[in-house]
Amino acid sequence: MTGKKVDLYGVVGHPVGHSRSPLIHRLFAEQTGQRMDYVPIDAAPGQFLEALAEFRRRGGQGLNVTLPYKGDAYRFATRLTSRSEAAEAVNTLCWRDKEVLGDNTDGAGLVTDLTANLGFALTNSRVLLLGAGGAARGAIAPLLAHSPAELVIANRTVSRAHDLAKRFSVMGPVSATGFGDLLGVFDLIINSTSASLAGEIPPLPATTVSSKTLCYDMMYQKGPTTFLTWAGMQGATIIADGTGMLVEQAAESFFLWRGVRPDTGPVLREIRRRLS
Ligand code: NDP
Repeated sequence: MTGKKVDLYGVVGHPVGHSRSPLIHRLFAEQTGQRMDYVPIDAAPGQFLEALAEFRRRGGQGLNVTLPYKGDAYRFATRLTSRSEAAEAVNTLCWRDKEVLGDNTDGAGLVTDLTANLGFALTNSRVLLLGAGGAARGAIAPLLAHSPAELVIANRTVSRAHDLAKRFSVMGPVSATGFGDLLGVFDLIINSTSASLAGEIPPLPATTVSSKTLCYDMMYQKGPTTFLTWAGMQGATIIADGTGMLVEQAAESFFLWRGVRPDTGPVLREIRRRLS
């Protein structure tokens, strides 16, 4: 294998020092025998386009895009997948045939984690999505594609939840409300707010949770997030953080770039081991 070109990929964001993506993609590459390098790129505010140009000068072929540049990447791409168009955000760029393809693999990563890794049956379920930011927007179409009985979006700024519900209503039974107005028990509650980052929880009624509710936080950290700790205190017995989503969205990006689908199980176990 010596002498053959090593293809270059990476993740661009600010900050990116904490990103697990370099490790995940290195493990995928080792597992599948792909010759590739994957580097973190910290682009200071206002330097996104310059960082991309420098990456291309180095021969880079594909990038993951993380906060705060998913909107910039959406505008930068010359061709968009339907899922990135629905999300109005791009987390994966791929330079190919004089085009820059923009994709969004976050929602697919979430749904794969819920259905394949956690064994949750989305069809006919009652789903509550907390938050109406970029991550929520990317999740709605993939969730509705599995025909839940109902998808309720609740957000601190209620008008943003209403805007999303209106936008996606052609795809399925989606509605919007404020946290305090939530009624009844849900089968699945997904926290896509960044409240856990500040050690806060969205103020939703405890009656939304039963012992059978899957409580999912898109955020991940060492130990349970604030939201998952709260869910456990309300009697939830099935909880999961966003580590699985992170690994599954990475696998989707890897597939787009390399045409090879890695086995995510061992990589997810390794990332969890390192986080524990
Ligand atoms: P955005 O900034 O776009 O949206 C943030 C959302 O959180 C908004 O709905 C905002 O409400 C809400 N919010 C913020 N603070 C609070 C609070 N204290 N109480 C209640 N609601 C609050 O962020 P993203 O959507 O991009 O990301 C959200 C989370 O998802 C992050 O924690 C991120 O790490 C995680 N994520 C995980 C991924 C994974 O692979 N596991 C992938 C992508 C994201 P309002 O509209 O009122 O401001």
